[in-house]
Amino acid sequence: MLKAVLFDMDGVLFDSMPNHAYAWSHAMTQFGLEMTAYEAYLHEGRTGSGTINILAQRYWGRDATEEELERIYAAKAEVFNTLPEPKPMPGALEALTAAKELGCMIVLVTGSAQTSLLQRLEEHYPGFFRQELMVTGFDVKRGKPDPEPYLMGLQKAGIKAEEAVVVENAPLGVESAHRAGIFTIAANTGPLEDSLLKEAGADIVVPGLMDVARLFQK
Ligand code: CA
Repeated sequence: MLKAVLFDMDGVLFDSMPNHAYAWSHAMTQFGLEMTAYEAYLHEGRTGSGTINILAQRYWGRDATEEELERIYAAKAEVFNTLPEPKPMPGALEALTAAKELGCMIVLVTGSAQTSLLQRLEEHYPGFFRQELMVTGFDVKRGKPDPEPYLMGLQKAGIKAEEAVVVENAPLGVESAHRAGIFTIAANTGPLEDSLLKEAGADIVVPGLMDVARLFQK
């Protein structure tokens, strides 16, 4: 019996990943860390410091200091904020509506701690999200691909893994949901190969959110 659908935000509800990928690759380059946009997609969902330290280890052979982490993350946010506002993902409203019509709770599980995007949820998807059913970057310690964010989502909804479905778009997010024991639909809205999402544990891979809506309408 399906009781809740847990939605990721970036790359699922908002078409925000092109901006994140661009901002990461440009900010990292300022610090001598080469990161392609494609690699930014591979690391999508990881915490900011986790992402920075993968590059710091590769190029500097050590973790970044707290000060470096702050400076690089601030540079990323600065580039990100110059970019046009991400648009709602085509089909996301239909997927949310279909999930709600099934009688499901809608739960948000995002690594993002970007208050602007969280505020925009209510603007674009009014009435779907409630503060007490949101897990954000402010809540979690370990972040995706650890199962912690999705386990916290189940806990907030007061349900078991088998009563939920996750909608994700990124390999690390899929891994997090899969390790939490939840049936995971991957909407492949970015440039990565479907096989990466399947290997991460996706139960179904579809091209976009309109396809997710159709799954819920059946
Ligand atoms: Ca995502």
